[in-house]
Amino acid sequence: MKKIAVLSGDGIGPEVMSQALRVLDALDLGFKVEHGLIGGAAYDKYKSHFPDETRELCLTSDAVLFGSVGGPIVDSQLPKWHRCEANSILALRKALKLNVNLRPATLFKSLISISPLKPELIEQGVDIMIIRELLGDIYFGEHKQFIENGLRVATDVARYDEDQIKIAIHQGFKTAMARNNKLVSVDKANVLDTSKLWRTIANEIAPEYPEVTLEHMLVDNCAMQIILNPAQFDTIVTANLFGDIISDAASALPGSLGLMPSASFSAEGFGLYEPSGGSAPDIANKDIANPTAQILSLALMLRYSFKLEKQAQQIEKAIIKTLEQGMRTRDIHQHNDTLVSTQKFTTAIINNL
Ligand code: NAD
Repeated sequence: MKKIAVLSGDGIGPEVMSQALRVLDALDLGFKVEHGLIGGAAYDKYKSHFPDETRELCLTSDAVLFGSVGGPIVDSQLPKWHRCEANSILALRKALKLNVNLRPATLFKSLISISPLKPELIEQGVDIMIIRELLGDIYFGEHKQFIENGLRVATDVARYDEDQIKIAIHQGFKTAMARNNKLVSVDKANVLDTSKLWRTIANEIAPEYPEVTLEHMLVDNCAMQIILNPAQFDTIVTANLFGDIISDAASALPGSLGLMPSASFSAEGFGLYEPSGGSAPDIANKDIANPTAQILSLALMLRYSFKLEKQAQQIEKAIIKTLEQGMRTRDIHQHNDTLVSTQKFTTAIINNL
């Protein structure tokens, strides 16, 4: 029996996670589900945001379904919340050796009116998968502040070795192959040596995937194109820093963070699945959060970790149908739509499965 580690975390985490588990139950797939504490919830019991028990649970599971962690920004200096996100998420990435992050930015047709872009820019639909390298680049190089010639100076070192780049590029090609065979590799190869190496390696690997068309795009142009013509993109692969920024820009397109799932993988294919947004303390415990991102994260888990493509699509289609029926949680609600709670929205999804 396959085991799923469920880490609900803080804020809206537990309430949207319980909805995803209702959907999993309804599919009756026979998984073993085991819960672990993380974030502020773990701190209350263990005085640690990522206790050994949780690490052990993740390492002995077949996949991790993660909610979100963190407290209200105003309380971020309290011991319970101080560095909570970094202590939980960076530690998880390190423990599970999660090298790449996949973030889809999909615009649901029935939600075109809540996208911040004009209808004429998105009428062809938007369905982009962004793959971001997670363990290299400027975040992990040396960070320094010092005085030089009487001036305050700061440096951050960006570093990549070829193995780190290869893992991300292979993931990019494989993901593109499972979609529309169109891969855009995003870099800043006109200036940065890390990007020149990135581009060289992408070109070296390309012949292994003859079905896929590889295009290179500079990151500044990509930022502009994602807003001006998002329909041109299918799969994007990029380095850690550029991926952080580009995927947040793309995440604005669907209209709410509550719609955005994500997945992270190790080189061996172990997967962690989570909403792109945070713990949303402003709306926690009110039964108003949108559970879609968590439920779509479950669908990604079924697709990538357990090869249950049919059930993944079943969930995605049930969400589309629920939206077409006019059901809306508060974050995506407009005029004549039916405003429903987190739980009622999930009940409608389950009825549509
Ligand atoms: P946030 O993503 O939690 O919230 C931003 C806005 O989006 C809020 O208005 C929130 O209500 C809304 N939102 C997010 N998810 C929603 C959903 N499912 N349904 C409806 N609305 C939703 O970001 P923030 O407010 O900057 O951070 C809050 C806390 O979350 C902080 O402690 C931060 O450190 C943490 N955080 C955690 C993660 C994570 O666990 N992966 C990611 C980002 C932020």
